[in-house]
Amino acid sequence: MMAGSATVALGASALASGGTSTSAADRDEQRLPPLDDELRLDEATRSTAADDFGHIVHKTPNGVLLPGSPQDVATVVEWANRRGQQVAPQGQSHSVYGRAQVADGIVIDMSLLRTVHDVEADRVVVDAGATWSEVVAATLPRGLVPPVLTDYLQLSVGGTLVVGGVGATTTRHGVQSDNVVELDVVTGAGEQTTCSPHHNRDLFDAVRAGLGQVAIITRATLELVPAPTQVRRFLLIYPDLASMLADQRLLAADGRFDAVQGAVVPTPEGWRYRLDAIAPFAGEQPPDDDALLGGLSDVRSAAEISTMPYFDFLNRLAQLEQLLRSNGQWFHPHPWLTTFVGDAHVEAAVGSELANLPPADLGTFGQLVVSAFRRDAFTSPLLQLPDDHLCYAFNLIRIPTTPDETEAARLVQANRAIYDRVRDAGGVLYPVSALPMSRRDWRRHFGDRWNDLRRAKRNFDPRRVLTPGYEVF
Ligand SMILES: Cc1cc2nc3c(=O)[nH]c(=O)nc-3n(C[C@H](O)[C@H](O)[C@H](O)COP(=O)(O)OP(=O)(O)OC[C@H]3O[C@@H](n4cnc5c(N)ncnc54)[C@H](O)[C@@H]3O)c2cc1C
Repeated sequence: MMAGSATVALGASALASGGTSTSAADRDEQRLPPLDDELRLDEATRSTAADDFGHIVHKTPNGVLLPGSPQDVATVVEWANRRGQQVAPQGQSHSVYGRAQVADGIVIDMSLLRTVHDVEADRVVVDAGATWSEVVAATLPRGLVPPVLTDYLQLSVGGTLVVGGVGATTTRHGVQSDNVVELDVVTGAGEQTTCSPHHNRDLFDAVRAGLGQVAIITRATLELVPAPTQVRRFLLIYPDLASMLADQRLLAADGRFDAVQGAVVPTPEGWRYRLDAIAPFAGEQPPDDDALLGGLSDVRSAAEISTMPYFDFLNRLAQLEQLLRSNGQWFHPHPWLTTFVGDAHVEAAVGSELANLPPADLGTFGQLVVSAFRRDAFTSPLLQLPDDHLCYAFNLIRIPTTPDETEAARLVQANRAIYDRVRDAGGVLYPVSALPMSRRDWRRHFGDRWNDLRRAKRNFDPRRVLTPGYEVF
């Protein structure tokens, strides 16, 4: 990395945007103003930026900005506007379908801006490239935690706030983008500004769960709540989908657990239906198991009940990540599909997909997520949900046992067919999925909110520079 201020003069060959200019004025226009860090043009950096966790889509940018400051982000976005180039911020590149990539444009590696700043009693200020694990590392020692954390902590704050950010406690607190106090952003026009519920509200509402279409988040002030020290964890097994759903309805209504997540997992004996329920506590005395499990219809003899430190629960996917890294499957294509289905249709929709889904299409370590959320916990206007009071995350977490690209392409096609069926049943996409979406699909996806997003795009990113990977505009 280059220290200090660097002026990068970019030849037309390196960052061609159609046409080579020759006049001195044009050459000045091409010249990138001084940066606190640097714009990398080498092939290795550009090809790394052309990949993500999905390993399905590959678009190579012309350059990769390693920002030394939010000002660098603004400088490059403003410069890209002048040159008619597109810009894609990248956080931790855990997209599964090229959503943080751009062909022939500029990638901004936001992971370079990852300082966790002040932790206060009810909030923390973080750079958007910080991971949730870095946020938690700073807040937990103070006995505090964001109300919602994604199941996997190695995602960037910016990368999840622009999609929503679903976690175990979503039924109580909504998504991560519902728990934000204020955002510092660089708009698509290259302007640095701040937005919140009280200031630039239209921008704030278009950034949260807005798929990066109007601004790049550089810094976020996140809400904090008191953290427990331990959790009592109940892994409950059900004989079938109907009984698992019935208990989810009961638990969503009475709220006796802080978090309940459902999964259908492939086993050699067939599908296994499981709820993972969490009761946090502080001090020595765990909660009363009998009271928590009263009235549930799980196969009690199969239940696994344990107590664990709260951080171990938050970090529960670390072990699986380690295993998948060691067997190589972490590096395979990941054609995931994530949706929301309403309560009225969930049993039929999930049941019919299960009846036709070969377990091998999920992989040995894959699973179907079927987790209930109360709709009234969600407030980010652009996050789309079915109309039902109770909605379910219905996700196909596919962990293929083969790196074969043809097989991945087949699963992407299967995702599209499943999405169409989910949509016909009143469901909606959670956009962090691997499937092609046309502009018409996105218009339909955003429904009543489409005009709000389009207006915000016109106001804040008039040249349509930002985040082309979602192919919304
Ligand atoms: C193993 C794994 C577990 C996951 N678990 C969950 C989960 O529990 N809950 C959940 O909701 N999702 C989950 N996801 C999905 C994940 O939240 C999204 O894919 C998220 O967008 C990835 O964040 P990232 O930092 O890797 O972003 P990237 O893949 O780098 O970027 C994602 C999108 O955000 C944009 N972006 C990135 N940074 C910024 C920024 N600072 N400002 C504006 N736009 C930006 C990018 O351009 C791109 O469009 C998981 C994904 C994986 C691979």
